Amino acid sequence: MNAGKMKISKIDEILKKVKTVAIAGHVKPDGDCAGSCLGLYNYIKDNFPNTEVDIYLEPLPYTFLFMRNSDKVRSEAELDIQYDLFIALDCGSIDRTGFASKYFETAKDTLCIDHHISNNGYANTNFIEAHISSTCELLFNLMDVDKISKEVAECLYTGIVHDTGIFQYNCTSSKTMNIAGVLMDKGIDFTKIVDDTFFKKTFTQNKMLGMAMDKAKLYLDGKCIISVLTLEDMAKYNAKPEDLEGTINALRVTKDVEAGVLIYEKEKNVYRLSMRSNGKVDLSKIAVEFNGGGHVMAAGGTVYGEILPGIDRLLNMISEQLEQ
Ligand code: 5GP
Ligand code: MN
Repeated sequence: MNAGKMKISKIDEILKKVKTVAIAGHVKPDGDCAGSCLGLYNYIKDNFPNTEVDIYLEPLPYTFLFMRNSDKVRSEAELDIQYDLFIALDCGSIDRTGFASKYFETAKDTLCIDHHISNNGYANTNFIEAHISSTCELLFNLMDVDKISKEVAECLYTGIVHDTGIFQYNCTSSKTMNIAGVLMDKGIDFTKIVDDTFFKKTFTQNKMLGMAMDKAKLYLDGKCIISVLTLEDMAKYNAKPEDLEGTINALRVTKDVEAGVLIYEKEKNVYRLSMRSNGKVDLSKIAVEFNGGGHVMAAGGTVYGEILPGIDRLLNMISEQLEQ
């Protein structure tokens, strides 16, 4: 395969018609969200210098601040602008853009680039391909490969690495690997990107991992593992949601487990669910029953109110799927 050798870049065709662009990703930005948003931001800056572009994201985890122009991220909707084009990246539904949805409502045109199976195509133009590993891979396919700079390549590589679990999850295809190769040839320090953004943990993250493991319980004959972290638990190490990064994966790889669930109390009686499957359980179906969404193997949602009835409901759904 000649990765990315497309005659017409679809994103160029769209971008050359507009003068002002807003880019937004999802709340609690992860690697694919940060990589796709900054990758596209830098691509526009490099190739469309006369276009005015703003990027809206919640503050990025420090691991992603190495990406060029991460300091340009706006975390408040303080500008009063009607954009020609609003681009939502890696957002399965428009509410996932959080505070930036204000600009979606007023924009003259809207575009969605995403790979969530639960995405119903909420923009005027939608590039949604659920079988593709990451929004970054999808974005690469829409770009002109010759116009991708080293800095854009760094962003896209980061996103692909994160959403494939370093080319390990079954969303990884031979095309993903070819694209990663093209990005490597742009001269990026791929070893450092993986080590700094994936493996390195802060002391607080390691403490929270230890606590989550300590509190984890097995259900359904050991096929489901759940750990619940309350506000008090989070407060013990002054932990923020990003300090739980990596914890859910550590739960998932427990021997004989089919589904891993990390639950943390975000505010009093509001619990966020982070779920991972090993293949038998389709979590995208379960997540929509918990005010959320996502993929078959990785999904999230929210429980409002008491957590124990929520866990019962969750276990019933997982057990139903395991019995099928
Ligand atoms: P995580 O567990 O890492 O927070 O999320 C796993 C996957 O599910 C991600 O792809 C994320 O975008 C998606 N996801 C998590 N929470 C929600 C949610 O509340 N709504 C939707 N639509 N998707 C979610
Ligand atoms: Mn993604």
